Amino acid sequence: MSTQTKAPEAHAAKGGKPQTYGNYINGRQVKSESGETFASYNPANRDEVIGHFASSTPKDVKAAVDAAAKAFPLWKATPAPHRAEIILKAAHLLETRKEELAQTMVREMGKVLKEARGDVQEAIDMAKYMAGEGRRLVGQTVPSELPNKFAMAVRQPIGVVGLITPWNFPIAIPSWKTLPALVAGNTVVIKPASDTPLCALMFVEILNEAGLPPGVLNLVTGSGSKVGMALVEDPRVRAVSLTGSTEVGRRVAGRCGELMKKISCELGGKNAICVMEDANIELALEGALWGAFGTAGQRCTAASRIIVHKSRYEEFCKAFKARTEALKIGYGLDPANEVGPVVSQGQLDTVKEYVEIGKKEGAKLLCGGHALTDGEHAKGFFHEPTVFCDVKANMRIAQEEIFGPVTAIIPVESFEEALEVANGTEFGLSLSMYTQDVNRAFKAIEDLESGIVYINAPTIGAEIQLPFGGVKQTGNGHREAGSTAIDYFTEWKSIYIDYSGRLQKAQIDTDAITGKVNP
Ligand code: NAD
Repeated sequence: MSTQTKAPEAHAAKGGKPQTYGNYINGRQVKSESGETFASYNPANRDEVIGHFASSTPKDVKAAVDAAAKAFPLWKATPAPHRAEIILKAAHLLETRKEELAQTMVREMGKVLKEARGDVQEAIDMAKYMAGEGRRLVGQTVPSELPNKFAMAVRQPIGVVGLITPWNFPIAIPSWKTLPALVAGNTVVIKPASDTPLCALMFVEILNEAGLPPGVLNLVTGSGSKVGMALVEDPRVRAVSLTGSTEVGRRVAGRCGELMKKISCELGGKNAICVMEDANIELALEGALWGAFGTAGQRCTAASRIIVHKSRYEEFCKAFKARTEALKIGYGLDPANEVGPVVSQGQLDTVKEYVEIGKKEGAKLLCGGHALTDGEHAKGFFHEPTVFCDVKANMRIAQEEIFGPVTAIIPVESFEEALEVANGTEFGLSLSMYTQDVNRAFKAIEDLESGIVYINAPTIGAEIQLPFGGVKQTGNGHREAGSTAIDYFTEWKSIYIDYSGRLQKAQIDTDAITGKVNP
């Protein structure tokens, strides 16, 4: 078995000398059997190494699943209210360490400090909500069609679950998956994105510090194709929950389908804000700016399309350009900065490529369009917030997920056309309508094809107590957060208790019309 390595220390947030971190298996950090590591960098300064992390192998995954499988019977037998006590304690620890976690997140992933605090807050909210679930985990009791017979269904944990997470919400997304899985009595192996392993490790260690028994929550770092797939392939992993790109989701879901394994996918988006002729334009401008450039556009719910009625088009474009150009771009630990870097060189290259695609397609570059490479931006992956206007709904920049600070303004002639354009992509995560007309607001709620709809608010800003997820190519029908998360991480067991003392035959012994028991 591998040897123990050091725990993340508070100085991780302050930028001390980079440490080497292991996987987290059976209640402690252990080195990968490969002995190899990869580095995580500060996207605002590529010279700054955040830490070195285990380049794991399928053998490491097996060790983590061994630990989770061994821990499962005891964790399942632990009453849910007791499991919830540990999660509540974790909520308090997360609160105590919120600032440290947020600062680490800025250094590791790039979002600005205010947003990083929000990311940690989401995990705190989720922990409190899921701690409450420990005293609910609501089942069903229904009347039986037969006398002296009791009918009910209870929730049971699934077993070992595998969680695969992206980098854009490095603590919130692991919390959306881990906390409902744990309160429901499952044991967990998590594979975080390779751009944000430290945030995930700190989150896992906090939960263990809160009192999880060893093996209940494990973490293995490394590549998606090697480590993620090994997790998917292990027959003891009974359910997988993945958040990531549609391409990866398709691959993982395909394999889970072959293995008859439960799989939840939360994938890409091409979200839109619609601004109608009767909209409060000030409000719409503010919302669109936040929706498009919050987290440098790297949110699955980012507003990468803004659909504007032609009668307000000129006015909107002019004001949106001015506001976009006024955004301050830089290192997220400086409170003056509003937009941070994108997460990696790869992400920056994608953004640059889409800017070129937009120009070639004939969209008009309203502002931005360049990577920032001088002065304080020289060592980071910074890109100007970029706006295209006169975009046609079928252009690639209006159809494909860019996942960066680029948005496309599309003019439309009517409310009906706005709905048609908003719905006209393969994705269906978050759509928003700005209108003062209550009839239109309700029509939009009814007809927008997405898992989340906002009225007079941007496409971002979900709260953890409602279902989160999308339709069409954004997902495969499951939802995270709220009570729906519990649905995903439990199996139903239906129970019939016959206390009549005789054999009673359902559908046969009772007369459907009179309700009398047949002789
Ligand atoms: P990604 O698909 O590249 O990676 C996601 C995770 O999957 C990572 O941990 C990665 O290592 C792993 N992975 C990659 N290949 C794998 C494979 N073959 N088998 C198993 N695991 C594999 O996504 P990303 O770049 O980390 O995140 C950005 C994407 O996530 C965007 O498309 C964004 O829209 C999406 N996202 C969706 C939601 C949502 O709730 N719908 C939320 C956040 C992010």
